[in-house]
Amino acid sequence: MPTFRTAQQICDHGFAPNEQLPALEAVAARYAVALPPALADLIDPNDPHDPIARQFVPDAAELDHRPQELSDPIGDDAHSPVEGIVHRYPDRVLLKLTPICAVYCRFCFRRETVGPGKATALSAAALSAALDYIRSRPKIWEVILTGGDPLVLSARRLREVMKRLAAIEHVKVLRIHTRVPVAEPARLTAELVRAIKVKGKPTYVALHINHPRELTAAARAACARMADAGLVLLGQSVLLDGVNDTPQVMSDLMRALVECRIKPYYLHHGDLAPGTAHLRTDIATGQDLMRALRGRLSGLCQPTYVLDIPGGYGKSPIGPDYLARTGSNGAAHFVVEDFNGRRHHYPPAG
Ligand code: SF4
Repeated sequence: MPTFRTAQQICDHGFAPNEQLPALEAVAARYAVALPPALADLIDPNDPHDPIARQFVPDAAELDHRPQELSDPIGDDAHSPVEGIVHRYPDRVLLKLTPICAVYCRFCFRRETVGPGKATALSAAALSAALDYIRSRPKIWEVILTGGDPLVLSARRLREVMKRLAAIEHVKVLRIHTRVPVAEPARLTAELVRAIKVKGKPTYVALHINHPRELTAAARAACARMADAGLVLLGQSVLLDGVNDTPQVMSDLMRALVECRIKPYYLHHGDLAPGTAHLRTDIATGQDLMRALRGRLSGLCQPTYVLDIPGGYGKSPIGPDYLARTGSNGAAHFVVEDFNGRRHHYPPAG
């Protein structure tokens, strides 16, 4: 089965009804479409609410743009001093090598810039300029390769970039953000894994996974190849309506990640990307889910629930909060809530 890249292919293969074709063509004209076989195989075409289809099959609802939605919801552009670099926090930068992904998520916060015909891949000259920028700023401790999806690049190109980054003395940590292990697990060959594992500098791989079904046997094997090679795996998930917004699904997802040696890192609140209102939840739903996880799952399975503040102000944890200050005049008295919802004074009343 090929990767489906057009609205026509999506309808022809039964992932959307034919009468939606004109609307889906309008969606595909604006936002890139790619549904690779590894994910298409997971979709139950008879389930109108299939959580895999909701994430990857274009939907006419994407034409509904809300006033509060932003073309650059997390403010990358405001922090891009040279092509390919986003420098939002003092000690780390994003390095965007390519605008191409193995799959195009319908809620992507970079949907206006990812895909063929959007931004161009970083040229050799632009990459050298980006590396010069990093080299000349000793406060940059970590470089995060993001995208597009860096793991769509060849092992040769990745090896070259990783080696050049690792050679910068003050860069101590490298991180790669990717969806390839679930979208195209066969790409994670031993050669590609060797290419991203550089000597002397730890490499973290943050995997974007939103539903436990994405962790197929092939995806688990790809994760195992990375973990066995000494790469540290982190999980990033986006909270999505109808995909993972129930305690059962979210618990299953977090446990599945940990079983694959992927430490849940962030649960992102859905960004205000254009045409994604049908997939966003409210923050109260996210906080209730986090409380449900706290009550029933190991500490290893707890992500931090974060909001990327629109406008480029960075991420903030958004609760829920278990601690409330009581008393007055600066007395350090608190009430802390346990995982059963019971409240306790701290320090305890003597
Ligand atoms: S893989 Fe990442 S960058 Fe690519 S479409 Fe999905 S969320 Fe966006």
